[in-house]
Amino acid sequence: MLQPSSITPKDLGDDLSSVIPGKDPELAVTIKRIPVSELDLSGKIIPVCEPTLAGKEKEYLLDCLDSNWISSAGKYIPAFEEKFAAECHCKYGVACANGTVALHLGLAALGLEPGDEVILPTFTMIATINAVTYTGATPVLIDSEPGTWNMDVEQLAGKITPKTKAVIPVHTYGHPVDMDPLMELAEKHGFFVFEDAAEAHGAEYKGRRAGGLGHAGGFSFYANKIITTGEGGMITTNNAKFAALAHNLRDHAFSSERHFWHKFVGFNYRMTNMQAAIGLAQTEQMAGFVENRRRNAALYTEYLKEIPGIVTPPEAGWAKNVFWMYSILVEDEFGLTRDQLRAYLAHYGIETRTFFIPMHLQPIYYETFKGQRFPVAEMLCQRGFYLPSASSLTPQQIKYITGIVRQAYEEAHS
Ligand SMILES: *Cc1c(COP(=O)(O)O)cnc(C)c1O
Repeated sequence: MLQPSSITPKDLGDDLSSVIPGKDPELAVTIKRIPVSELDLSGKIIPVCEPTLAGKEKEYLLDCLDSNWISSAGKYIPAFEEKFAAECHCKYGVACANGTVALHLGLAALGLEPGDEVILPTFTMIATINAVTYTGATPVLIDSEPGTWNMDVEQLAGKITPKTKAVIPVHTYGHPVDMDPLMELAEKHGFFVFEDAAEAHGAEYKGRRAGGLGHAGGFSFYANKIITTGEGGMITTNNAKFAALAHNLRDHAFSSERHFWHKFVGFNYRMTNMQAAIGLAQTEQMAGFVENRRRNAALYTEYLKEIPGIVTPPEAGWAKNVFWMYSILVEDEFGLTRDQLRAYLAHYGIETRTFFIPMHLQPIYYETFKGQRFPVAEMLCQRGFYLPSASSLTPQQIKYITGIVRQAYEEAHS
């Protein structure tokens, strides 16, 4: 039977074990002392994220039930694919069961084999690298750049080999990767660029949308993503052949020649009509969600920028960051560590989440990348966390949350 990895943070050595975040603090709402008295939001937990289901979700979903179309055939699947792909400035969308399988489906359509190499950032969520592992190809990691926290495209050139078949840029926390130099390298070396856009619905690079910047993109519609279908994912692309292949592999690779005849090892990675119904209603509200997140991020930054030791999230001049999560770094100057500040906020019912633990420090990939160091990703892991970031978050809540951060700073320095 399957045995878990026995690697513990201690096994990473003294300098790296301190990078691994502590356990999540317990949320509490019992605290009476509220610093910004006119904003008394005590007694309520502010979740780090929650979906906004304020459009036609219910209407479309009931239509599925009333019409008996609840499985993976039905009109909402193509309608959602078409509308969401258009939002990404793409011709084709292939809806599937979740973001992880969107990535795997795309890599499978490339025909990756053991021995092939796929380059991705170490600073990402586990699904990105696992999708590579499922194909048998070898993952190759690169560090983040300090300016955008995204994959450092300058370091990429040094990792390209004749075996490099694909690169997966991850638009971290909603900030797009610097794509032009990446696409130049792709052109030169002939590898496929498959964006992991799971956190970047509506993000823009020089006016072009995430998901349509590389050769294809993979999205997640998990409940904490900018638009959600509960569980769900989609591949977006302008490549008709790639889209058709992904579409076919999604559904057991049934052949068009005759039924129950299979020329590829396909998957059942289908999305249901019910999920697509919710997805369509969500996509209709996407522009509003993005606008709210950008407004909220601007407010957060305005309230936080004067507090010493808090680093607010990046936005490069060419980028439209959609702030999937409003992410900050805590530097020594603040007077509390990241984990201490999180505990302080939890005391006031403010839920937060630490940054990703880089892939080279994961128990399951520890042996694979042993000895490789990625200082920017490690710094981000040690110092970063995100504040509540739902599209429905109000300016009043942001004032409250940032007021508590300021109070923590003042107490640490009193
Ligand atoms: C959420 C996420 C995924 C995985 O999506 P699921 O729908 O949860 O499978 C992949 N990559 C990144 C960067 C993510 O944030």
